[in-house]
Amino acid sequence: MKILFIIFSIIPWLIHSQIKYPTSDFSNPLEIPLILNGNFGESRSNHFHSGIDIKTQLKEGLKVFSVAKGNISRIKIDHGGFGKAIYVNHPNGYTTVYAHLKKFNSSIEEFVKRIQYKKQSYEIDFYLNSSDLKVFDNEIIGFSGNTGSSSGPHLHFETRKTINQKALNPLLFGIEIKDTKRPVVNSLYMYKKLKSGLTSQPYEVLLNKINDSTFTTKKIKVNGLVSFGLSGFDSQDLAKNKNGIYEISTFLNDTLINSIKFDSFFFEESIKINSLIDYSFYIKNKKRILKLFLEEENDLSIYSTKNNGFIDVKQRAELLFKIVASDIKGNSISINVPLDFENIAKTTLTNIQKKLTIA
Ligand SMILES: [Zn+2]
Repeated sequence: MKILFIIFSIIPWLIHSQIKYPTSDFSNPLEIPLILNGNFGESRSNHFHSGIDIKTQLKEGLKVFSVAKGNISRIKIDHGGFGKAIYVNHPNGYTTVYAHLKKFNSSIEEFVKRIQYKKQSYEIDFYLNSSDLKVFDNEIIGFSGNTGSSSGPHLHFETRKTINQKALNPLLFGIEIKDTKRPVVNSLYMYKKLKSGLTSQPYEVLLNKINDSTFTTKKIKVNGLVSFGLSGFDSQDLAKNKNGIYEISTFLNDTLINSIKFDSFFFEESIKINSLIDYSFYIKNKKRILKLFLEEENDLSIYSTKNNGFIDVKQRAELLFKIVASDIKGNSISINVPLDFENIAKTTLTNIQKKLTIA
């Protein structure tokens, strides 16, 4: 009875804390080992990447399979963007997208020709009825290519929730990519909240390596609201590509302060990329710093945060700020940043910067 009570009392918590995605409904869209050129959520020039880019052995024409049965819901042919793309709705409530294709299978090609003749246009964006074109599990729906805005042969693959087209990380669906490598953080930066409400320039903080999974910094003396940003990447076992980091969480004395996690986002949010990275730093230096805090106006759903990710250093106390960066397989690194209150009423940013560069 007691056990039952415990089980029932944690169910609502489980539902709220984790959306469960089906991990065995989808098979692989290609018949080669999957190696990624790019992963979900990584920062592109003006958007978050909404799927995974799968390498196709530097060639075009590999068979592309529907990952489960369903019906083709949309066919889009575009000179730019996704090039030739197919959208498949599946009975489990999710949609898969296959883009930059060289060509479709013969029945889809015939269907497409009819639409192109009717519309008198090569470019089409056509929504199908659920009975128009059915596909079987593992049916060849097309052949991989390099069409649209693609800088080399690959398959762009997406998973979306059908009802609202929210982009979901395809790796949540049990698609297997061998990965035992930890994310890499190249550099760490401190930001200070200014009296004006704006955020300071980034100040680089040097990292000392303790072991493969742990880094630390010298003690930083500071006061007021501070937070951090980092630049780094993640890669998987079979390729050296520098992909985005899946999850970054920050803690103050072991209490969670902020978490950025690339599980899902709405396409409308994608344009807010410039509030995730330090955009003015990027324009000047062509280097992306991922901010571990929110600016006032930011409401990106990939963040869950306390106090917008800032911590308030206002009195003398042992403060340990900790950053944990992980990939979807749980390989992680942590950075410990010891902080100490600096009792100077008029600490100038130049002073802080001097100290940090000396440290
Ligand atoms: Zn892509």
